[in-house]
Amino acid sequence: MMDLYSEVIVDYAKLKKYKKKMDDADVVREGVNLSCGDEIKLYVKVQDGRVESLSFEGKGCIVSQASTNLMIERVLGESLESIHEILKNVEKMVKGEEYDRNLLKNVSIMENIRSYPNRVKCFMLAWRTLEDALKELSEG
Ligand code: ZN
Repeated sequence: MMDLYSEVIVDYAKLKKYKKKMDDADVVREGVNLSCGDEIKLYVKVQDGRVESLSFEGKGCIVSQASTNLMIERVLGESLESIHEILKNVEKMVKGEEYDRNLLKNVSIMENIRSYPNRVKCFMLAWRTLEDALKELSEG
C-alpha cells in the first residue's frame, strides 16, 4: 500500500482549505461508501455553466479524503462539459486504461489506485457524488 499513502496524498487528506459548510450552495449532495464507512457531503455552486464554488464535510479514510480534495482542486472553475470529460478520464484511470494525464493533472498522483481494487470505491466517492450533484442540478 506504500504508493497509496505517499506524503503528498496524506497531505491532501489533511487539507482543510475546502472542508467547510456552504450556506448558499445550489446543490448539496451526500455520498456514502458503505464498504469502508466513508461519508461526504458536497456543496456545489454553479454560475454561468461553471463550478464556481465547492466544499465538503465528512469523514473517511485517507484515500477518500485525499481524493475529495484533489477532485475539488481539479474541477473548481471548470465548465460542466469539461467536468464531464474529466470524469470519463478518471474512470479510465481507475480501470487501468489509457487516459489523458494532462487533463487530469493533480488527480493523476493517485493513479496507483488502479492496483487496489478494494479501495477504488473510496477514491471514486467524491467523483460519484459530484456526478450526482451535477445531474441533480441539470434536472432542476
Ligand atoms: Zn475509504
